[in-house]
Amino acid sequence: MNTKTKKNTSGIPDDVIIGPYTYNVVIRKRPFVANEKEHPKETAGTDLLGYTDTASHRIDIAEGVPPAAMADTLLHEILHGVCDVVGMCESEDVNEEKVIRMITPTLIDVFRRNPKVVEYILTA
Ligand SMILES: [Zn+2]
Repeated sequence: MNTKTKKNTSGIPDDVIIGPYTYNVVIRKRPFVANEKEHPKETAGTDLLGYTDTASHRIDIAEGVPPAAMADTLLHEILHGVCDVVGMCESEDVNEEKVIRMITPTLIDVFRRNPKVVEYILTA
């Protein structure tokens, strides 16, 4: 753990399995500012809420935001991992960031409003 990370007391699990990969989830202190070396897909200086490195299988999540926002960010970053597994990130016809930003909040809303459906999906 370096000085940019902190002990994970968020309740977010330390890892998440996405396809064949296990991603390490790391909680980052805010401001969690993008730099070119660590976050080549982001604009340098941007205050990030999350970042997924599909090469090292690491998901960074910024602390200091409400739990619902951290959950939204975690799902958003998981979807980046999903896009990597299915090869969507390599498509020039799809704006991965735009699609994920559009889907994530509504997907969370569907999960929250339909716990029986989520339970069914998880146990089917
Ligand atoms: Zn994103």
